[in-house]
Amino acid sequence: MDTSVKEIVCKTALHCHDSKWLPYRYDINVYRGCAHRCVYCYALYSHEYLGGGDFYREIYAKTNIADVLRRELPAFSRETVNLGGITDSYQPAEREYKLMPGVLSLLARYSVPVTLSTKSTLILRDVALLKKIDEASAAKAAFTVTTMDKTVARLIEPNAPTPRERMNALGEIKKQGLTCGVHMMPVLPYLTSGEASLEAVFSAAKDAGADYILAGALNLRGGTRQGFFESIRQSFPAEYGRIKEIYHNKEAYKAYKRDLDAVLIRLRKKYTLPYYSKIPEKPEPKQLSFLSPL
Ligand code: SF4
Repeated sequence: MDTSVKEIVCKTALHCHDSKWLPYRYDINVYRGCAHRCVYCYALYSHEYLGGGDFYREIYAKTNIADVLRRELPAFSRETVNLGGITDSYQPAEREYKLMPGVLSLLARYSVPVTLSTKSTLILRDVALLKKIDEASAAKAAFTVTTMDKTVARLIEPNAPTPRERMNALGEIKKQGLTCGVHMMPVLPYLTSGEASLEAVFSAAKDAGADYILAGALNLRGGTRQGFFESIRQSFPAEYGRIKEIYHNKEAYKAYKRDLDAVLIRLRKKYTLPYYSKIPEKPEPKQLSFLSPL
């Protein structure tokens, strides 16, 4: 795979954003760029101020992030931190760089609740640390699964583990007692929006023990739009025109969204899977010993 990883040093680890759309104010991203190469990735903008570069092929690893976080945490409130709000913390580079264990260990020590979403089974390596956090405060893990069709998944999320592997990993984490969810986002018109396709994800999520499914339509903004349509034109030429119509015609989009929402409501009832599950935080967070092995 023609991906290069560049090591960088960061000045801050905890990033506070002011987006009113996101439920958490703080996130930590140990990488910039993401080698999973999803055709709908909304995070392409995050590479722009680094002088451009290819978001999917030029990955930046923040090798000093645990040291910076160690300095920041004593003054940090116990707000929930979203791990990897911009890119996937468990993308392929993490196998070599192992940045997440240091970050998770520190968050456990300071009893900071965490939530994270990934497409990678590499998260299983760190389940013991997530459990430590859950014991000290709260931890929630979600897998993004947009379809159970591995052929479609290979074309839209070429470097991520298969949907079945992700669901199996979710089942493993659930067995450890963590709150787990499925992020069925984004739903792609005609490719993953059919009722059978949506139901396959609901059914697999229920079987794996998921506590919730968050679903959302595709939002094409900034640089994502052009790359997305180019990928669809190449991989799904028969659907290209219909998908383009949805994103170029307000009425078509409204009708599509209305139908999608109606199916999702039916499936939520059938599988009793809510759209969200609050992390059950402990009223008295346990302060782990700074000397205890993590
Ligand atoms: S896993 Fe997330 S961050 Fe990575 S390419 Fe896919 S959508 Fe983008």
